[in-house]
Amino acid sequence: MKVIEHLAKASSTLISFEIIPPKRGGDVKELLKVLDDIVKYNPPFIDITSHPAEVVYEETPGGEMRMKIKRKRPGTLGICALVQNKYNVDAVPHVLCSGFTREETEDFLIELHYLQIDNVLAIRGDDSGYKKPVKFGRSVNEYAIDLIRQIIDLNQGKYLEEGLLDAEPMDFCVGIAGYPEKHYEAPNLITDIRYTKAKVDAGASYIVTQMFFDNKYYFEYVELCRKEGINVPIIPGLKIITSKSQAYTLPKNFYIDIPPQLVDELEKAKPEHALEIGVNWAYKQVEELLNKNVPAIHFYIMQNSKPINMLMKKLGY
Ligand code: FAD
Repeated sequence: MKVIEHLAKASSTLISFEIIPPKRGGDVKELLKVLDDIVKYNPPFIDITSHPAEVVYEETPGGEMRMKIKRKRPGTLGICALVQNKYNVDAVPHVLCSGFTREETEDFLIELHYLQIDNVLAIRGDDSGYKKPVKFGRSVNEYAIDLIRQIIDLNQGKYLEEGLLDAEPMDFCVGIAGYPEKHYEAPNLITDIRYTKAKVDAGASYIVTQMFFDNKYYFEYVELCRKEGINVPIIPGLKIITSKSQAYTLPKNFYIDIPPQLVDELEKAKPEHALEIGVNWAYKQVEELLNKNVPAIHFYIMQNSKPINMLMKKLGY
């Protein structure tokens, strides 16, 4: 079932999750334990992140620097198949521009379509330091909007190869990313929102936001989006802080603010109390979001179900 159908038929706020594939060489058993843990909360859908190849520099024994190109976290497709077929939860694979040619993206979408996966989150991806050389007439999607156009074309049976006879149309529901505190490259929030509006006009059906730790950013963002004519559901994304160091790494990696009160609490507490502080903070955020009847709350749980279990218990689930 499509994410927008889940949202349309829900009588109250839905709870969804986002997980990340293990590192190359890792064990999927750990992720299965996380899935066993979170499916008990009946999520209508679970997102699975996707990762482009990265450039890694290594020093050789002779002291020379060697450049390696590797994809640290493959496995999105396999995990989607597991989520959908073992757990009977709709999988939402993230599909990226970065690191993939349009031809590879089309093949990925064909695999998803065969697996009867109805949803994708279309995103650009960050610059991983590796630009895939594009040869022999191949092409890349530069911005998420280009990727959305490719998916919508496929929904209309338009494949990259012209003149395919009786080409089967796909039927993906397309989600996109939104940034209540602005995407880091955008000159200002309104310009960023206008690009988001263009993605909705191109065929995106819903938005999932970047994490935020002060709900005011989300409420203001929704208001600005509505003023700019974006009328699709905007799902707030939340992360539970688990350590003091995250008060410094999350802003660096995701270009978001951590409120002073939360930083103060983490600074003053013993390290073993950081998780409890994070859960209490998320609890307050969730309470307010539930009171405002948001369509869903999307938790970035990655590969750790302990914080969400603590939060869900506190929420009475
Ligand atoms: P875009 O919509 O392409 O926007 C990128 C920037 O360009 C913005 O500043 C925008 O304002 C601007 N812009 C947009 N269109 C145009 C245009 N036509 N001309 C000029 N400027 C334009 N990353 C991963 O690698 N893997 C993941 O699985 C992943 N999942 C994510 C899930 C969510 C919910 C979120 C919020 C982010 C996720 N990311 C992921 C991070 C994401 O890839 C980065 O934030 C990336 O830098 C931007 O992606 P986007 O789709 O928002 O890009």
